[in-house]
Amino acid sequence: MEVHKIAVIGAGTMGRGIAQVSAMAGFQVNIVDVDDTRLKQADKKIKENLQKGVDLGKIDTGLMETSLQRLSAFTDLPLAVQDVDLVIESVPEDLLLKQSIFRKCDEVCPTRTILATNTSTMSPGEIGSITKRPHQVIAMHFFNPVHLMKLVEVIRSLDTADETLAVVLEVSAKMGKETVVVNESPGFITSRISALVGNEAFYMLMEGVASAADIDRAIKLGLNYPMGPLELADLVGLDVRLRNLQYLHQTLGEKFRPCPLLIKYVQAGRLGRKSGRGVYEYRNA
Ligand code: NAD
Repeated sequence: MEVHKIAVIGAGTMGRGIAQVSAMAGFQVNIVDVDDTRLKQADKKIKENLQKGVDLGKIDTGLMETSLQRLSAFTDLPLAVQDVDLVIESVPEDLLLKQSIFRKCDEVCPTRTILATNTSTMSPGEIGSITKRPHQVIAMHFFNPVHLMKLVEVIRSLDTADETLAVVLEVSAKMGKETVVVNESPGFITSRISALVGNEAFYMLMEGVASAADIDRAIKLGLNYPMGPLELADLVGLDVRLRNLQYLHQTLGEKFRPCPLLIKYVQAGRLGRKSGRGVYEYRNA
């Protein structure tokens, strides 16, 4: 099957990025959110990103304009998914929420439609188990910021068909992404490692081992990571990171128990870059 039209569900940090790279790759894109404000913010961010690409000479104005023309915003999910070839769901990391969206898409989408989830940790098999098309369910795990990060981790469940995998690998390649294929397991490759390292950094901060800046500097300069684990947690969103850890703690055990300091930050509304304050302060969030 050739994909022409994609619906992206959820216009948050990830959904808007996925919508942008999909439109830039030549796909027609319907972007959906329950919250109209998030759709407006997504539209603004996508325009800003594309304009920045033009200003830096990375893309031309023609690509910016055609990409924007390919994007349509919806608050009505059935309307947005009724004629698409691929759905990429990117709502918050909550199994029941994701399953309710998959159930609705399964009812409304054409039989050919592939249903993908951008979950960071969860089982596409479990999310897809409530559909009548588990062989057409898969996870496409994108990274933040989507237009800059090269990888899509593709996770197949026990039931994912070879054809579904092949289509999703081709779509990812058209988006200019590299892929790795993972057999489903909580947190896949990247979230499992990243959550563990990030959680340990929070424990160090809580224990007073060093300042946040020095923990990040040590990991960057000594271990050659491009970003420190605390900076990365702020970029991902501390609430998103906490949800990932809670799921990994539940599925993989004690070593993923969320650090109490991370929980405190989230309870205080310090969610990272997106709220202007996390481990660090951000003036222009
Ligand atoms: P976010 O909170 O920024 O965005 C989620 C969006 O989903 C919000 O705009 C919200 O209004 C919308 N939404 C909620 N319920 C909805 C519904 N029923 N229908 C339509 N829209 C709905 O979250 P995010 O950071 O973009 O994360 C989304 C998913 O991507 C999560 O599963 C997360 O684990 C995963 N992920 C996040 C990152 C990251 O760095 N933030 C990276 C990879 C994957």
